[in-house]
Amino acid sequence: MVYNVTLIPGDGIGPDVTAAARKVLEATGISFNWEIAEAGAGVMGKYGTPLPDSVIASIRKNRVALKGPVTTPVGTGFRSVNVALRKSLDLYSCLRPCKTYPGVPSPYKGVDIVVVRENTEDLYAGIEYERGTPEAARMLKLVAETRGQIREDTGISLKIISEFGSRRIIEYAFNYAKAEGRRKVTAVHKANILKYSDGLFLSVAREIARSYPEIEFKDVIVDNLCMQLVRDPQQFDVLVLPNLYGDIISDLCAGLVGGLGMAPGANIGEGLAVFEPTHGSAPKYAGLNKVNPLATILSGMLMLRYLKEPEAADRLEKAVAAVVAEGRDVTYDMKPDKTGGVSTSRAAEAVIEKL
Ligand code: NAD
Repeated sequence: MVYNVTLIPGDGIGPDVTAAARKVLEATGISFNWEIAEAGAGVMGKYGTPLPDSVIASIRKNRVALKGPVTTPVGTGFRSVNVALRKSLDLYSCLRPCKTYPGVPSPYKGVDIVVVRENTEDLYAGIEYERGTPEAARMLKLVAETRGQIREDTGISLKIISEFGSRRIIEYAFNYAKAEGRRKVTAVHKANILKYSDGLFLSVAREIARSYPEIEFKDVIVDNLCMQLVRDPQQFDVLVLPNLYGDIISDLCAGLVGGLGMAPGANIGEGLAVFEPTHGSAPKYAGLNKVNPLATILSGMLMLRYLKEPEAADRLEKAVAAVVAEGRDVTYDMKPDKTGGVSTSRAAEAVIEKL
């Protein structure tokens, strides 16, 4: 069987890490037919957009993609390609396993957390009103009529949380926990302050939890979660979160298990999935063949599981674990003093040798 997979190299360090992951995936013995799709700032000149329709069409056709990170300008410029991709394909579930493999540079041992982040709503819904525009003025007027005056020089970003969106991500988290034999789901929120958005998310979580009596359910306020994660991360299993907290907590959890270089991810919708590392494009390391490819390689491991190739996925995960445990052929970020380390391509070769 040959799998047709869309490969989006991305920009910054994306081309380095996706090239490494592609080689490793091919070395598992599974056959891939890669369809290369370009996205990001670099293709603006060629296509007039950082996310050409052809990229979306390719993923719709192949139903599976492996993606490198894509840069998003801060504050101004085009909207995030990543957010647009997840929204247009309705990839509502972002799955980010964070596990300490023996040998990773982390004071924590035995962490095995899966972050399940809602991917389409919340403050990332992209519903924003720029300060000083007529649309912002209309919103301010509406608020003044119903809730009271807000300063005129206000920019507005709406936090959108629906029952539908909450239900499907929370059900996804419980079904994932059940399928993977996990024991506990924790819903993360700030429902004490955000009563009608996070409050809705929490009430849906409590209701759904009743249908899964075999899985322990807890809820936690997001600031308390941050403190608990730093003090005692082993108490957590599956975390389910609205979009913004999910984004932030994913990076926190990556930090617990050795850093962004070790944090894989998957964006999953109905019959479609895009696999990508949690990290971004780290522009200062672009083209240096220097950064850690393991997060992207482990994203490939998640892709193999999704494609129902568990034997190849297990072999790949063991090969990565063996390279990390040896600690010789790893990149700088995995070294105790964060210097030295092998190149991106050498780290990938080391995984291939273990395979
Ligand atoms: P980043 O994740 O790109 O990098 C932060 C730091 O983490 C880097 O400077 C580097 O020290 C370290 N790092 C990241 N990946 C690494 C790797 N593979 N190996 C070793 N070290 C690694 O975060 P940022 O600097 O905040 O964002 C840069 C750009 O990436 C922004 O434009 C942002 O919008 C974008 N971004 C894209 C995605 C995505 O495509 N899914 C995700 C996050 C950020």
